[in-house]
Amino acid sequence: MIYDTYLIIILSLIFGACFGSFANMLIYRLCCDQSLLRVRSLCPNCNNTLGLIDLIPIVSFLLLRGRCRCCKKPILKRYLVVELLTPILFFLFLYPHSFMLLNLHYLLFGYIILILFFTDLESYLLPLPLTSILVGLGIAISFLGDVLLSRLMVALLFASGLLAFRYIFNHIYKQDTFGLGDIILLVAISLNFGWQICLSTFYCAVILGGCYSVMLIALKKRSRNDLIPFGPFIIIGILCSFKFLEIAVPFLFLI
Ligand SMILES: [Zn+2]
Repeated sequence: MIYDTYLIIILSLIFGACFGSFANMLIYRLCCDQSLLRVRSLCPNCNNTLGLIDLIPIVSFLLLRGRCRCCKKPILKRYLVVELLTPILFFLFLYPHSFMLLNLHYLLFGYIILILFFTDLESYLLPLPLTSILVGLGIAISFLGDVLLSRLMVALLFASGLLAFRYIFNHIYKQDTFGLGDIILLVAISLNFGWQICLSTFYCAVILGGCYSVMLIALKKRSRNDLIPFGPFIIIGILCSFKFLEIAVPFLFLI
């Protein structure tokens, strides 16, 4: 049994490191609006073409001590974080006692929100091709679960409510406060997991984002008018929601 666990860890590291490396490439190219089709990767600072030795997930980062081999400029820690988080995702997918054992829906959803977390954090972007995949995935899952019509109606309701919320806040603060990408992501969550998870995700995201903004303002790191990316809070919100919902819903929404 213990050997099975070792095998799962090794497989998770192999798959996770490869897909993590691909996720890093997507994050970088989507944030810089670069073609995803270009084959070779470059150092963003000195434009040195990265060789095989620079591209081994996790290992290259540690061997190069987090610096470019050519210009010695520090490489973003995000590369290592993504290459470590992706194996955890694959471990949860393969581990027999995991809540997402062999659940391809959760794996794909988890992989895409991992990429979205960092594109929004780095560039205030939730790229439409990725959020569209989540919407498509939600429609397919709802169709297979025979709940497509009800989820589409609820998603439409959410989208209208959130657009109204966006309009009011933009009017009050006289700037773009709540991105359309955030709305598409919330609609995708509603299509994938139902309205309860979507509502509790939004609730968690507003509380977490609000607390974080207040903290930054109190520490004088941001002013009231500075924007913070909301996508990462939605993504943390969805992770909290699965457990949070069981405990808090009876108190919060009186269901
Ligand atoms: Zn360089």
